[in-house]
Amino acid sequence: METLSTTCVIAGGGPAGMMCGYLLARAGVDVTVLEKHKDFLRDFRGDTAHPSTLQVMHELGLLEEFLKLPHTRGRTGNIEIGDEHFTIADFGYLPTAAKFIALMPQWDFLDFLAAQGRKLPNFHLLMQTQVKDMIAQGERICGVLAMGPAGNVQIKAELTIAADGRHSTLRDKSRLKVDDLGAPFDMLWLSLPVLPGDPADLIGKVRDGQLFVMIYRTNYWQCAYLIPKGGFDTIKADGLTKFRNRLKSIAGFAADRIDEAIKDFDRIKLLTVAVNRLKKWARPGLLFIGDAAHTMSPIGGWASTSPSRTR
Ligand SMILES: Cc1cc2nc3c(=O)[nH]c(=O)nc-3n(C[C@H](O)[C@H](O)[C@H](O)COP(=O)(O)OP(=O)(O)OC[C@H]3O[C@@H](n4cnc5c(N)ncnc54)[C@H](O)[C@@H]3O)c2cc1C
Repeated sequence: METLSTTCVIAGGGPAGMMCGYLLARAGVDVTVLEKHKDFLRDFRGDTAHPSTLQVMHELGLLEEFLKLPHTRGRTGNIEIGDEHFTIADFGYLPTAAKFIALMPQWDFLDFLAAQGRKLPNFHLLMQTQVKDMIAQGERICGVLAMGPAGNVQIKAELTIAADGRHSTLRDKSRLKVDDLGAPFDMLWLSLPVLPGDPADLIGKVRDGQLFVMIYRTNYWQCAYLIPKGGFDTIKADGLTKFRNRLKSIAGFAADRIDEAIKDFDRIKLLTVAVNRLKKWARPGLLFIGDAAHTMSPIGGWASTSPSRTR
């Protein structure tokens, strides 16, 4: 088996792992980030870069370059309760360099961090490399076992960071206890077309016990529809027509786009909302960050999503 050595090995190239890898490499630490996929392409994954995240990018001297990537700016948060419209957030008041949320695909953010990392000689990113287990010497964790494109690889490290997301392999292997706080709802993600004259905004719509969120993404609306926990199977069993009618009753100005946009349930992506956290985030030689340490609901994500502040 091939053996590599590094100072810090990071399992998972999501926002937490990539930002952590970049920061450590920038501070002079030899870092190896392992990502199981061959690219960063994902649908509907944390496409919001919040003012706090943008502030970190600013402090790192990366903001100007980062904002050259195609993005949409959300300057206010709005809610409609029945027919009443309220602006509930105005990011213009924040003491941050960017007074808006930047909406861009998460893969653009991760590609950007990867490109910045690759400028540093001690940053190594191994794609298509899946962490399978950790290596222990007594009580101390001293690296990982992974499967790369060329076969098994052992990576020895002084520090192992688990940033492998909400279904963390290393969390399972570590035997650390997870506190499951539960969440009473799941979310359905879908897209609707944007038409001329639409408000370029972020709008939450509340009506008849339903919640529908519309995020303006220049050429489409990214929409979230809240459902009771585990309720998607019932919605599917009730059929497309009933589901479309529910959406039409709450989608306001976009109601007449539902039939055309929602041709089948394959257009809908289920986000199973989880809220949990490790009771202890570390063992000697091993640290958990990001969703692997604590998966937050989208509500918490809204308030504090920041790849740099581990979530
Ligand atoms: C469907 C969906 C929609 C979301 N929408 C939003 C949103 O609109 N706004 C928002 O703020 N947040 C959103 N989130 C939450 C946000 O995406 C996460 O909180 C954030 O991505 C967590 O970052 P992370 O790096 O900790 O984990 P992840 O992003 O999950 O990254 C973990 C990485 O580790 C890799 N990996 C996993 N296992 C292994 C392994 N064994 N070996 C190597 N690599 C591995 C994965 O491929 C992945 O790239 C959404 C989440 C989901 C699931």
